[in-house]
Amino acid sequence: MLTVSDALALVLVEAVRGTSEIVPLTNALHRILAVNLLTPHDSPPFHKSLMDGFAVTTAAAAAAAASGQEMIRLAVVETVTAGMVPEKSVATTSAIRIMTGAPLPVGCDCVVPIERTQFDEAFPDHVVIPCDAIITEANLMRQGGAAREGSQLLAAGTQLQPQQIAALAEFGEASIDVYRRPTVAVLATGDELIPFDQPLRPGAIRNSNEPMLMAQAATCGACPVSLGVARDTIDKLSLGIQQGLQHDVLLLSGGVSAGTLDLVPQQLAAAGVVQIFHGVDMKPGKPLWFGTRLFESHTTLVFGLPGNPVSSLVCFELFVRPALEKISGICTQRESGLTARLSQPFTAKGSRPIYQPAVISIHDGQFVVRPVAWNGSSDLKATVEANGMTLLSSGHGPYSAGETVPVWFWGDGRH
Ligand code: AMP
Ligand code: MG
Repeated sequence: MLTVSDALALVLVEAVRGTSEIVPLTNALHRILAVNLLTPHDSPPFHKSLMDGFAVTTAAAAAAAASGQEMIRLAVVETVTAGMVPEKSVATTSAIRIMTGAPLPVGCDCVVPIERTQFDEAFPDHVVIPCDAIITEANLMRQGGAAREGSQLLAAGTQLQPQQIAALAEFGEASIDVYRRPTVAVLATGDELIPFDQPLRPGAIRNSNEPMLMAQAATCGACPVSLGVARDTIDKLSLGIQQGLQHDVLLLSGGVSAGTLDLVPQQLAAAGVVQIFHGVDMKPGKPLWFGTRLFESHTTLVFGLPGNPVSSLVCFELFVRPALEKISGICTQRESGLTARLSQPFTAKGSRPIYQPAVISIHDGQFVVRPVAWNGSSDLKATVEANGMTLLSSGHGPYSAGETVPVWFWGDGRH
């Protein structure tokens, strides 16, 4: 049987980056940039003051210091606040009162903070400044000091966070080229399923996989589309599959094991979906099915997720999430390779590697993972305590407390 990493590699071969679209900057949060962006102008766009104070020339201080003066008195010829443009320049006998963010006057190569200055009532419209406060290039930023026109601003594949939204705004990028959000159709299967807002009746259970998978797809930035429940009949199933194949990804839950009504693999084949694998060496999730369907140069990835809720949950996190990230154009796979120290000894039972629901937390600056009590793939209730999972295998032998093990956060991660 395929290992998880071999199966994931097969999935990622099929997951290809999607096309892009233009969105207004105000809608670009968390979207993935589709192009490399260069700065269209210098930042800051003009020489500017970084303090409230006085714009001066250091030549003034040099002259005073040469004649042994510790203080220098300069005539204040103008006041410039942020948003204004100075009309006058500064020379060895003059200063301009300037506020943070205002453009520097011609001749200025130093801003003296207001806290370092004094006033002499005998000389209104003058400022007195200690010579040692006049330091070349102090308290100012030169045009292009943060970024030169034409330098790299953001790389394609960057997921836009608030600081990048701000940088785009600073450079006047009002329309942003981002990757399209993949559409993910979710089709639950099973005669026993009733909607979650219905009272239970004998033999029935509520359809919890559909809202779970919709929510998981949403945490990937994808557009989830509900296809409802397909009953375990060929007609109903093939109708749902046809609808699902209109999308970038089709997630089916249930019907991929060995039961008499597990019709999903045969109906996917009938719909032209080519099987890539069926069965992965893992617990939960062993019956996972994966295939693709190419139609008019558009490929739909099709995952047949095992119906047991924890199997669906884990298979989504291990296989569907990385596929969606790749389709979405994210340049780095999220938090792969994370490890934590086991909080307690653990003995894994059974022959397959176990993806065990767990609580991942930080102690003394290090990730620690505590497996939660869990009764297998149908025990969804155990997962509400967990925020992720850890990988434990019986081949390893008993685990001791403090051992380092791989971990994955579920959903949005560390919440
Ligand atoms: P299956 O893979 O169809 O054999 O289903 C395996 C188990 O998962 C059965 O106990 C199903 O009742 C349960 N199951 C299947 N689909 C869902 C679903 N959408 N929500 C909750 N449980 C499900
Ligand atoms: Mg079923």
